Amino acid sequence: MKAESIFLRFSLIFSAILLTVSCAKKNSSSSESSDNFTVSEIAQTSGSDGLSGSFVVPENSISFLLSVFLDNNNSVVFKSLTDPDGIDILSFSSTPNLYLDASGSSGSSVTKYGYANVLIPQSPSFSAKTGKWTFTAYNNDRVKLALRKGVIPLEATIEVQPFITGITWSAENILDALTILSDIYLENGVKITINNTITITEGEYSSVSPTFTNTTTSALVKQGSSDAVNIFFIEDYSGIGSGILGNAAGMPGSMGEVNSWNGVLVSLSAHASGTVLDAQLLGETAAHEMGHQLGLFHTTEKGGNVFDILSDTPECTSSSLDNDSNGILTAEECDLFGGDNLMFWTSWSSTSRSSGKKQDKLSSFQQYVIKHSPIAK
Ligand SMILES: [Zn+2]
Repeated sequence: MKAESIFLRFSLIFSAILLTVSCAKKNSSSSESSDNFTVSEIAQTSGSDGLSGSFVVPENSISFLLSVFLDNNNSVVFKSLTDPDGIDILSFSSTPNLYLDASGSSGSSVTKYGYANVLIPQSPSFSAKTGKWTFTAYNNDRVKLALRKGVIPLEATIEVQPFITGITWSAENILDALTILSDIYLENGVKITINNTITITEGEYSSVSPTFTNTTTSALVKQGSSDAVNIFFIEDYSGIGSGILGNAAGMPGSMGEVNSWNGVLVSLSAHASGTVLDAQLLGETAAHEMGHQLGLFHTTEKGGNVFDILSDTPECTSSSLDNDSNGILTAEECDLFGGDNLMFWTSWSSTSRSSGKKQDKLSSFQQYVIKHSPIAK
């Protein structure tokens, strides 16, 4: 999310909801595949401590996304995820761990209603180790594994599928922003293939809630492609979304299958002055939300005291850089400390943008996460 952190604040409140563990037995399995990318459901068995399952990561694996679903949209997480060396990477006592940083972990404050996941690698400190991984989970309806194998090309490629809703703007109006998005990633070593924009004419999708479990938002995102990062340029947000530039379905969201979490939303009205769209800001917002969808966190959060787990991203600390001591770190205050990073928590002021300030930088480790993404080729 950019410019607002409503989701994060909400999730902090609701993540305390307790779960009941049922003893339903799960053993269905399915698979869809291209050459080096497969999505499969993992069989689970029920025991006294909830559900558990395992999967084998083959040699030459690059990355995987392990996802857990709960169709009634209550909170859902894993209890543990243990790698072939016996390290539970979701435990706060493991080194390294994703206890605070995977939506599929009980320690994370990221939204996890109906869907949560664990991405490997979330940073270069993790790898898709060859061998048997095991997990335990609270009550859920299914666990799916999206796995990428093969060799990482020098220049990774990611497919983007744009959509546009409403009647105020047309596909032509977002072409410049899509070019800017593409250029930002290319400058950071990632080639973007952009499909033709799909226009969605049904009026109910003009303005939608930023909540991905909302019935209308869910129906919209389910129009996405399984093979691409789906970017929904909506005319506006409804309800609590007022003023938000864009938001993603997760950090990361879902990859490799059609569901309510395989996409990001970007508000066109939030980027408009009269009848003109700010193409640079719109491109940066879409690229920023895509970064979230692929697993990047904000380099620095609003308060200047929460940072991503990547050790090479600039940190802008409230103790030394909050010049006006208002508890909010602006891009201007963080000019030399990540204000120009694509994943800074908020955009430059309009004055700074008019003077040419951009947010288009990704650190080496941010590029690493994107290039290793299960959805990349
Ligand atoms: Zn954001």
